[in-house]
Amino acid sequence: MARPEPTKLTPMMAQYHALKAEASKDGDDHLLFYRMGDFFELFFDDARKAAAVLDIALTSRGEKDGEPIPMCGVPVHSAEGYLARLIRAGCRVAIAEQTETPAEAKARAKAEGTPVSKALVARDIVRFVTAGTLTEDALLESRRANVLAAVCEVRGTFGLAACDISTGRMELEECEESAVDAALARLGASEIVAPDDMRAASPEHIARPKSDFSSDAGEDRLKAIHGVHTLDGFGQFTRPMLAAAAGLIAYLDHAGRGKLPLLLPPVSRSSAAHLAMDAATRASLEVLEAQSGGRAGSLVHAIDRCVTGAGARQLAEDLSAPLRDRPAIEARLTLVAWLRGDPLLRGDLRGMLRSLPDIGRALGRVVAARGSPRDLGQIRDGLSEARRICDVLATKPDRPALLETLMPQMTGHGALTDRLSRALIATPPTLRDTGGFIAEGYDAALDELREMSGNSRRAIAAMEARYRTETGVDRLKIKHNGVLGYFIEVPAKHGDALMAPDSGFTHRQTMAGAVRFNSVALHEEAARIAEAGSHALAAEEAHFEELCGMVSEARIAIAATADAMARIDVAAGQAERAAEGEWCKPDLLDDAPCLEISGGRHPVVEAALAEGGDRFVVNDCQLGPDDRLWLVGGPNMGGKSTFLRQNALIVLLAQAGGFVPAASATIGIVDRLFSRVGASDNLARGRSTFMVEMVETAAILSQATEQSFVILDEVGRGTSTYDGLALAWAVAEAVHETNRCRCLFATHYHELARLAETCPALSLHHVRAREWKGDLVLLHELAKGPADRSYGLAVARLAGVPDPVVNRAKSVLAKLEKGRAETGGLAAGLGDLPLFAIAAEAEQEECDILRERLDTLDIDALSPRDALEILYELKREAAATDN
Ligand code: ADP
Repeated sequence: MARPEPTKLTPMMAQYHALKAEASKDGDDHLLFYRMGDFFELFFDDARKAAAVLDIALTSRGEKDGEPIPMCGVPVHSAEGYLARLIRAGCRVAIAEQTETPAEAKARAKAEGTPVSKALVARDIVRFVTAGTLTEDALLESRRANVLAAVCEVRGTFGLAACDISTGRMELEECEESAVDAALARLGASEIVAPDDMRAASPEHIARPKSDFSSDAGEDRLKAIHGVHTLDGFGQFTRPMLAAAAGLIAYLDHAGRGKLPLLLPPVSRSSAAHLAMDAATRASLEVLEAQSGGRAGSLVHAIDRCVTGAGARQLAEDLSAPLRDRPAIEARLTLVAWLRGDPLLRGDLRGMLRSLPDIGRALGRVVAARGSPRDLGQIRDGLSEARRICDVLATKPDRPALLETLMPQMTGHGALTDRLSRALIATPPTLRDTGGFIAEGYDAALDELREMSGNSRRAIAAMEARYRTETGVDRLKIKHNGVLGYFIEVPAKHGDALMAPDSGFTHRQTMAGAVRFNSVALHEEAARIAEAGSHALAAEEAHFEELCGMVSEARIAIAATADAMARIDVAAGQAERAAEGEWCKPDLLDDAPCLEISGGRHPVVEAALAEGGDRFVVNDCQLGPDDRLWLVGGPNMGGKSTFLRQNALIVLLAQAGGFVPAASATIGIVDRLFSRVGASDNLARGRSTFMVEMVETAAILSQATEQSFVILDEVGRGTSTYDGLALAWAVAEAVHETNRCRCLFATHYHELARLAETCPALSLHHVRAREWKGDLVLLHELAKGPADRSYGLAVARLAGVPDPVVNRAKSVLAKLEKGRAETGGLAAGLGDLPLFAIAAEAEQEECDILRERLDTLDIDALSPRDALEILYELKREAAATDN
C-alpha cells in the first residue's frame, strides 16, 4: 500500500509544533496546553498521556500523514483542577496562551496583506507549570509548604537554595557532600534543580545548564531583586550559596517566562543552628509523613492543632528543623507556656485566627501578577485581623519576650488596609476581568460610568414597554446574548408584523419559534452601555493594578505579619495540644548530655490506642554521662520500639520549642539525632535490605558525637544469628567506647547482656511480660535488668500459631538449650573478647604492616612470576594472623 502523502501542515498546526518544540527544548519535556478559545487543547502524545491521567475523552482533529491527530481538551475556567492532577502525576505543563484577540489577528492580517479569513491568533508560552512553581490555591495543600530547591557544587562544597514561591520564603545553605541528602530531606522539596554536569545529582533532579549556576550572577540577581548594594544586611552568603541561588532564580525565570514570583530576602541557614537528622531518621521517626505514606500516623499529624494553613506549615518547618540554641528554644517554650496558662486568651486567639485568610499565599499570587481581587480582599481582611489580635494581646500583662518581638510585625498596615477597605467590595470575586469588585464611592468617575449603564438599562426596560404597546405584541422582549448583544425578540407568528419596511425594526435572525430584530434606538442605547461598560472595566483594571502595586510595595512587611501570625498559631496550637494531653514543658540544658524523662509517652501510639479505648503505659528514661547506653530487651511486641521512638520524639518536640508528652523532661541539648531500625522490621517497604541497614549504621558510627542521641532498634537483625549478634555486639561497643553518645539499643539477643560486664556506662533493661495461665501478657512496662527469657514461643501462641506446632517448638527449644548448656552456648566465648577499642588497634597495626610492604614494592620491576609469589606469601601470612 502506498504511504499517504505527507500532509502540508495547516498554519495552526505549524504554530502548534513550533510551540511544542519550545516546550521540549533541551529534553525538558512538558505537556503543551494550547489555548483555543475557551479550551486548552492537547495534541498527539500529549493528548494520549493527559487523557489517560485525567480520564477524559480522547478525540481527534484533522489529520497528519493520513492519520487522525489525537486531541483532548480541558475548559479554561476549570483548568486548575486538571493541572493539579497532572502535576500530582509527575507531569510538567507548558501553557500557551493567545496573546492577541481574533479581532487583533484579523487587523494584523489586513495590515500584512494576508487573507483575513486565514488570520491565525498569535500564541506564546506564558508559563511552565511544575510541581515546585505553583502559586494557585487550588494546586497547593494549605497545610504544607511547597518547596523548590536548587543544589550545586563549588570547589567541593555544596550550595543549597530553597524557596516556597507561594509565600516567597527563601533560604540558602552550604554543606559538605555527605550532608546534602540530609539537607534535601529536611526541605522535602517537590522539585530539585541541579546543574547538568553535577556528579552527585540524582536522576530525579531537573538538569539545568551549568552556566545558570554562577555565584556572581546569583549575587547580582539578589541585589537587583531586593534593590540593595550589598547582601550583608540579610546575612552572610558564601559562593556555593550564591551559585545555588543563581540556579534557582534562573529556573524561576524560565518557568515564569521572565516573570519572577515573590521572593523575600534570603535567609542564610547554618546547619549548626539545627538538630541534625538524616533522611533515614526522618523517615523512621515519621516526622511529617508516616512510613505507609501520607500525613496520618505521622508526628505532625498527632500534634498539629493549628487553625491556619500558615501555622500548620510553620509547625511542619519547626519539626523538620528543630533548634540547638537554648535561648531560642526557650523563647518559643515560654510563649507556649504563657498561652497554656491562659485558656481564655488561647480560646479567643484561636477563634480569631480561625477566620484569618492565608495572606502569605495571597501576597505570593499578587506579586507574581497572578493575583485576583479576592486575594486583595484577603490581604485587607488578614491585616485588619492581625491588628485586632495585636490589640487583644496588648491588654495582657507579663507578655513573653517572643511575643514582644512579634507584635510590632502585626501592625503598621493602617494606610494600606484603609485604602483596600475603601477600594474593594466586601467579598471580591476571584475573577477580575468581569469587574464589579471596586466599591461604590471609591472613584466618582467609575460611579458615573456605572450610573450611565444603569440608566441605559432602565432606558431599555422602558423601551421594551413602549414597543409592546406600539406593536401590540405582549410577548415582545428585549434580550441580550454574547453573540448578538441586545436584540428585540417576538414569537414567530408576530414576526411578519415587525418585518414591514416602515416598522422601524430591522430583521436580524429567524429562530425556530422566534424572530429577532434591532432598532436604531436600541442600537444606540446598547452602544452606550457597551462603552460605559468597557470604560468601567478599564477603570477597575487600573485600580486593581494600582492596589496590587501598593501591596507589592509593602510585601516584606506583609510577609512579616503573616509569619508572626503563623508563629502565634503554632504556639497556641502547641499549648492546646499540651492542655489536651497533660504535656509538660521540658527543661533544656547546655553541655549536659542527659536525658531524663519521667512518665514518657509516644504521641502517635497513644492516640492510636486511645481510639480503641486502650491506655498507654508510661515509661521513664534516665540517660546520663555515667549511664549513656541502655540495652532494652524483652519479647517481640513488648513495646521496645515504642519506647525508643517516644524518647527520640520527645527530644525532637522539645528542641522544636514545644511541650512534650511526659510528666517531666530534662534534656541536654542534642546536636544530632539518629534513628535506625533493623532491616527485617522494615521489609514491608520493599527496598530496605541488610545493606541499607549497615550503610545507615555506618553513618551513625562515623557521625554521632557525645552530644548526640541515637536509637538503634534491632540492628543486626537482617542477617544470620551469628553475623547479626556479632554486628550488634560490635556496634554497641563502638557506640559506648567511641561515639559516647546517649543511646537506646533494643535487641532480642540475650547474649548482649554480657556487655554490661565490660562497658561501665551501659545498663540493661527490658520490657516486662508475664505468662498467665499459659498466655502471654505484655505489660509494655520498662524494668531494670536483663530480659529473663525470650517468650518467642508465647508470642507465637498469642499470634495464633496452632498448639501442636508451638508444643513441638517447645521440645526443640529444650534440646537446643540443653546443647547450649553443655557446650557453653552461643555467647560462651564472648566474655573473653578484648574490648572493641583494643581490637581495633590491633587491626590498625596489621594494616600498617601491610601498607608498608606494599609501599616498598616496585611493581614495574616485578616479573609476573615474582608478583604471583608475593601474592601467595601475603595470603599465607593473612591465614596465619587469622588463626
Ligand atoms: P517491640 O518493638 O517490642 O516489638 P512495639 O514497640 O512495636 O514492640 O510495640 C508493639 C505494640 O504494643 C504497639 O503497636 C502498641 O500497640 C503496643 N504498645 C507498645 N508500647 C506500649 C505502651 N507503652 N503502652 C501501651 N501499649 C504499648
